[in-house]
Amino acid sequence: MEKAIIITAPSGAGKTTLVKLLLKEFPQFAFSVSACTRNIRPNEVDGKDYYFLSKETFKNKIQEDAFIEWEEVYEGMFYGTLMSEIQRIWALGKVVIFDIDVQGAINLKSKLGEKALAVFIAPPSLEVLRNRLAARGTESNESFEKRIDKAVQELSFQNQMDEIVVNDDLEKAFEELSDKIHAFLA
Ligand code: ADP
Ligand code: 5GP
Repeated sequence: MEKAIIITAPSGAGKTTLVKLLLKEFPQFAFSVSACTRNIRPNEVDGKDYYFLSKETFKNKIQEDAFIEWEEVYEGMFYGTLMSEIQRIWALGKVVIFDIDVQGAINLKSKLGEKALAVFIAPPSLEVLRNRLAARGTESNESFEKRIDKAVQELSFQNQMDEIVVNDDLEKAFEELSDKIHAFLA
């Protein structure tokens, strides 16, 4: 059966960290590489972290109906999941794992239904979220405040997911998340 795990959270809550750990723990998982139009960060690889597209190419793909979902996550910055990416992974007999923002997760869950387990990774508090995002050191002041504003809205949607995991102690959060996924795949 074709299955998918959707991991979502406000920026800085730890979803990328947890997804990387899951990919080590579950060999049957394959990461759904999203397309986006933001600039590549120094530690990122095109085609591995994201397909980094120009705005023009991204808009052409919207016209072609190539996305299962897409969004202007931040002003002028587009992110989306290509249908071809999900089909590629399912054709390999693997489980798709998504690292996606909250609105994208809601859209994906509504399209994938029972095939998907949607998990919200919650920060222990907004203050901790600010500290983690600051410590990661990837955002300009403007981008930082945008992400925090968005996080406040996103926290109000957590009950729309199938499961919520609070990422306080990383090891505990990972264990709890793994247990929920094992139960879903069983
Ligand atoms: P997201 O993908 O949700 O934006 P990241 O996985 O990039 O978040 O995590 C944001 C920052 O917080 C990173 O620097 C990461 O190393 C750190 N981090 C993640 N989980 C924890 C945790 N449980 N305790 C402390 N720091 C954490
Ligand atoms: P970042 O720029 O920090 O990598 O990601 C910004 C936000 O975009 C994150 O919340 C991330 O989860 C989200 N995102 C990544 N890929 C997708 C996608 O395919 N679709 C949507 N809607 N959001 C995405």
